[in-house]
Amino acid sequence: MKKPVKVAITGAAGQIAYSLIFRVASGSMLGPDQPVILQLIEVPVPEVLEKLKGTIMEVEDCAFPLVHSIELHSSPETGFEGTDYALLVGARPRGPGMERKDLLTANGGIFGPQGKALATKASKNVKVLVVGNPANTNALIAATAGSKEGLNPRQVHAMVRLDHNRAISQLASKTGVHGNDIDNVIIWGNHSSTQYPDVSHTTIGGKKARDLVTQEWLEKDFIPVVQQRGAAIIKARGLSSAASAASAAVDHMRDWALGSNGKIVSMGVPSDGSYGIAPGIVYGYPCICKNGDYEIVQGLSVDEFSRGRMTITENELREERAAVEDLLK
Ligand code: NDP
Repeated sequence: MKKPVKVAITGAAGQIAYSLIFRVASGSMLGPDQPVILQLIEVPVPEVLEKLKGTIMEVEDCAFPLVHSIELHSSPETGFEGTDYALLVGARPRGPGMERKDLLTANGGIFGPQGKALATKASKNVKVLVVGNPANTNALIAATAGSKEGLNPRQVHAMVRLDHNRAISQLASKTGVHGNDIDNVIIWGNHSSTQYPDVSHTTIGGKKARDLVTQEWLEKDFIPVVQQRGAAIIKARGLSSAASAASAAVDHMRDWALGSNGKIVSMGVPSDGSYGIAPGIVYGYPCICKNGDYEIVQGLSVDEFSRGRMTITENELREERAAVEDLLK
């Protein structure tokens, strides 16, 4: 067995965490030989902390071989002490009548201090994945605050993996193959309804996806279904898509930490200007992971249709960045 690593999860009493904690504890994220110390973080509200205690009792009752210990925290400063992997799930939900700018600002108040605490308290090589929405701009805020204290913005990602997995599943059911046979799906941009699920480079059982599905299906079915899948799940289930979001978070962190085996995975990472996207914003890109790091895949062709969609989602992220400008100073 390896030496235990510390995995911090915020919003630990919430819905997504209720799936995520158990997947991390079972070894799905970091492998069957990697013990974990769980640092579970919640807001300092007695009822919420009580609920988290209940979740912890359940984790204990699973007697997971890989769980070294479980910690409960009500502040990022203590919760991120020595953290190796941070999953930032807790976020302020949009309240009735709340404008997008208000939502962004309210979350800035959460993710700025968390970024700073990660930079000053966590392990130097901490990997941070933001799940809480608006995930891309929350990641930008955390990375900016953390970078003033020495955190490299490349250490802070936003999750677009659920959209990536949803795109694979839609293509699999349309073409009658298993998702394992689908490669090179890309989610460009924001984890929002402007995201662009792109199949221009996708292969299905070794054949070009573009030869197997029509442009009409892509525009009228595939893209809107992937973009609005979250809303469809709320309508059907009466609750948001928590288990699939947790599963995608596990996939993202596992590939980042252990490698994507040469496969393209979509990750929200700070733009370095690749594909003409504004530098700095946290944008969904095709990435390949190895040796605990990621690279944005370069040199893919971008046709006129894709460029239009990539610009729409880029513009939304530029607007979000402008709305929180004060928090980035
Ligand atoms: P969830 O666990 O369902 O969701 C948490 C966050 O993940 C939300 O921002 C949600 O966005 C986002 N999310 C991203 N992808 C998805 C997806 N596919 N489906 C659903 N959500 C997605 O929320 P709960 O309310 O159950 O739990 C949140 C917990 O966080 C609470 O226990 C609360 O106390 C805590 N919290 C912690 C804070 C902190 O650490 N400082 C601050 C605020 C809350 P969306 O809202 O768009 O659904």
